[in-house]
Amino acid sequence: MSATTPAAVLTATRRLELQELPLPVTGADDGLLEVEAVGICGSDWAQFEGRLGAAGAVFPVIPGHEIVGRVTRAGADACRAWGVREGDRVAVEEVLRCGRCHDCASGSGRCTGIRIYGMTIPTTTAPGLWGGYAGHMYLHPNTAMHRVPEGVPAQLATLFVPLANGIRWAQHVARPRLGDTVVVQGPGQQGLGCVVALREAGAGRIIVTGTAADAPRLAIARALGADATVDVDHEDAVERVRALTDGRLADLVIDVSAGATAPVSLAIDMVRAKGTIILAGLKDGRDVTLASDRIVLKQLVLQGVGGHDSASVAAALGLIASRRYPL
Ligand SMILES: [Zn+2]
Repeated sequence: MSATTPAAVLTATRRLELQELPLPVTGADDGLLEVEAVGICGSDWAQFEGRLGAAGAVFPVIPGHEIVGRVTRAGADACRAWGVREGDRVAVEEVLRCGRCHDCASGSGRCTGIRIYGMTIPTTTAPGLWGGYAGHMYLHPNTAMHRVPEGVPAQLATLFVPLANGIRWAQHVARPRLGDTVVVQGPGQQGLGCVVALREAGAGRIIVTGTAADAPRLAIARALGADATVDVDHEDAVERVRALTDGRLADLVIDVSAGATAPVSLAIDMVRAKGTIILAGLKDGRDVTLASDRIVLKQLVLQGVGGHDSASVAAALGLIASRRYPL
């Protein structure tokens, strides 16, 4: 193995440079990953353009946090903690929890000392290789990782992130009942992940909405199991949902659309009385105009969600390996 590895380093907004960085010395409780593939997240683009706010304005940084690779080095303690051996293919969770704060100790799933691979740790923090856009990545002792079955192509395995998000948001948090009608607003990676998760959960009817420009993604949504898709630029989405459900409306609406604020208000129109709305799409900090009386009068449940956990990542990798969906 050579003593350095190539890395794409974001040195400033919109400035990505190829650098050769030294491979770290590792010990008993950490290791080294040979990166095979890294998914591109919507936040990678925002990070590149400097739209992530203070938390994402870390330079110089190696981006890339949807990471799949092979463990090329791992100490004895690390192997025991991670449940892997050198040579194993793994999916790496991007979140590094501190393991010491009150939130970590209470098992709440949050962490006040959280760090994120590919985002919040600069290359100036030793040993430098903290992101996926590189030949190799450092594996900190607190890393959470999951073994990837050998037969799964690396590119396919990187879909564990949007799929785990879909499983957590649409299944574990929303808890749809067998036969429920669900509307997913936004057919991006996360929305498509929700479609697969809802199919697995036994949803009765899955309706996906998107813009005219989303036509290819809406076609993918249908291939993955959506029963109907709606082009909101040319159709009245609420009327389509009403027609598709014989006036009963949706039991559950999941808003995964990024930037657009109208879907939040539309969700209230599309959901039945005592239904549930899951909000997952960020609106770039913009205020949303809505008549909150409708939430009260329809007795709705509104729940915000973000990110995945170990249980949803494990489920996502199992689903990818099953080849049940044309991912
Ligand atoms: Zn913590």
